[in-house]
Amino acid sequence: MNFTEFNLNAQILSGIQAEGYEVATPIQAKAIPAILDGRDVVGLAQTGTGKTAAFALPLLQHLMAGPKGQLRGLILAPTRELADQICVAINKLGAKTGLRCATIYGGTVNYREQYRTLRGGIDIVVACPGRLLDLLQGGKNSREQANLHQVEILVLDEADHMFDLGFREPIYHILKYLPKQRQNLLFSATMSSDIRLLADKVLNNPVSIKIGESAPANTVTQTLYPVSEALKTDLLETILQNNAVQSAIIFTRTKHRAKRLAEHLGHLGYKATSFQGNLSQSKRKIALGKFRRGELKFLVATDIAARGIDIDHISHVINFDMPNTAIDYTHRIGRTGRASKLGAAFSLITNGDRRQIRSIEHLLKKRLEECIIPEFDYKAKAKAP
Ligand code: AMP
Repeated sequence: MNFTEFNLNAQILSGIQAEGYEVATPIQAKAIPAILDGRDVVGLAQTGTGKTAAFALPLLQHLMAGPKGQLRGLILAPTRELADQICVAINKLGAKTGLRCATIYGGTVNYREQYRTLRGGIDIVVACPGRLLDLLQGGKNSREQANLHQVEILVLDEADHMFDLGFREPIYHILKYLPKQRQNLLFSATMSSDIRLLADKVLNNPVSIKIGESAPANTVTQTLYPVSEALKTDLLETILQNNAVQSAIIFTRTKHRAKRLAEHLGHLGYKATSFQGNLSQSKRKIALGKFRRGELKFLVATDIAARGIDIDHISHVINFDMPNTAIDYTHRIGRTGRASKLGAAFSLITNGDRRQIRSIEHLLKKRLEECIIPEFDYKAKAKAP
């Protein structure tokens, strides 16, 4: 489906063109007309499907029709990185619309500045629920209080991830500050009973859109590399030598392992950094910027840090440690092969991961290929990383 078929404003079409989008992705083809019709929407879709533009484009179209400079669009997102990413996408797609988008989240950004954001002629705010609720409740400065009286469209993005991060209560609280009359859009990669309850509370006779059944894009080839725990680092080195890995996120189970592995890759001469919860927000931002620009080849990350990251050129996702759930696996490998580009996912698996692999294969409805590297000495003694 071509974007001209949606009857979007010329200014919005020029944003789409500038981004180089030619045809709508399946979620865009389904969601955009429904949202333009004023319907509430529940979308079961992961990142990598084009869901940001699926809600951003009709949101921009709707806001162009009314008064500018009032906070009329509110998007709640789980992490700062995702909030930044959504805001950047909206500001690019809406570059010619005169509408302005800003972010609100905790960490180093100060309260006063954020009150100003909420009051200062911004049309769309992308917020993490915790800090937004703080601001609504008066935060650290009881003289200042933000309000959401003008909000016409609410988007809950990655609702399941927001719940995972403990934002359920803040979200329910924030709902009380919103006008009753509004359009609601909820996106989630999974539909647990918790999310279903939220959807029932928030959405009014929604159009339901389901994309890909949590399966990753079929642009990602997946390979399993069986290995003992002790030889993982050695095997990873061999894999990196054997494959044209241009740019990869390497996932580890813990922050400590991410840090250690990134240092080890650094000693081997690779441009790598860790990306985990112990890093300050500014360090995370710098690391992500360098990775995005190709100045870093490897980001060694934990799940919590990496969900929602949208970087186009990631050629590989490597699971140094397998994730806890099959859904997390699909999230991880969804970091590559985005928007029809080809990607590869390599997973180092130990015997203890076998059950997990079966549940992943069950979810994906296919068998994953295993690879033994002939020249690798699987009986060797491990080097200390
Ligand atoms: P998302 O699922 O929103 O995180 O989007 C994943 C990636 O797909 C982003 O890099 C978008 O810029 C890109 N994208 C979104 N829509 C399209 C489209 N219609 N054609 C090509 N790329 C797109």
